[in-house]
Amino acid sequence: MFDLVIIGGGPAGLTAGIYAQRARLKTVLLEKQMVGGQIAVSDVIENYPGFPSISGAGLMEKFEEHARGLGLEIRFADVINITVENEVKVIKTSEGEIRTKAIIIATGAKPKRLGVPGEKELTGKGVSYCATCDGPFFRNLKVMVVGPDSIHSRLSSPARKATPSAISAGSAVLPMGIWLLAAAHPAAS
Ligand SMILES: Cc1cc2nc3c(=O)[nH]c(=O)nc-3n(C[C@H](O)[C@H](O)[C@H](O)COP(=O)(O)OP(=O)(O)OC[C@H]3O[C@@H](n4cnc5c(N)ncnc54)[C@H](O)[C@@H]3O)c2cc1C
Repeated sequence: MFDLVIIGGGPAGLTAGIYAQRARLKTVLLEKQMVGGQIAVSDVIENYPGFPSISGAGLMEKFEEHARGLGLEIRFADVINITVENEVKVIKTSEGEIRTKAIIIATGAKPKRLGVPGEKELTGKGVSYCATCDGPFFRNLKVMVVGPDSIHSRLSSPARKATPSAISAGSAVLPMGIWLLAAAHPAAS
């Protein structure tokens, strides 16, 4: 029986793992795909204090190394179902059942894709899903923003100097030299 099971091996799950190890809780972290989560596929991170510029994969390697260094157990398993039996939480996974006193769910989110031609190939190379993270990379460039007004106004603040034009989802054709920021509506995974 574990004290704590953390579901999700992204930045949130790994951070929870570090705290849990330091608190000497008997813990296991479950990850269904790849340790590092969404950020691991990001080319460059420029907003993590202490690292002016680092690849997403590089930063997540450091998170993982830190967590494992403290003794965190990481297992690859897809969590399918959780039930509660008296005070005990029973987690059904692709690799069997785990019993624990407590659970932290850190399963993140995934961006809602538009499904337009070129979107997949150009992700990270001009197509972005995080206006706050990637807006500054497009300073003084023309961008197309797909999403609500709040994203549009965040990008067009004088400090960011992007020149966005809003379009509706599903019909984006990208002329040369115009970048696409499909920033909004993350869908829970
Ligand atoms: C291309 C890109 C670039 C980005 N750039 C930046 C940036 O420059 N700066 C910035 O601050 N943020 C950036 N972000 C946002 C950042 O990646 C997220 O805010 C962050 O990853 C969220 O962390 P998280 O741990 O909450 O979730 P996630 O990173 O989504 O991790 C969740 C994890 O849970 C796992 N999981 C889900 N369901 C299950 C299940 N049933 N069983 C087991 N495991 C499960 C997933 O496989 C995943 O590994 C970027 C995102 C993307 C996609």
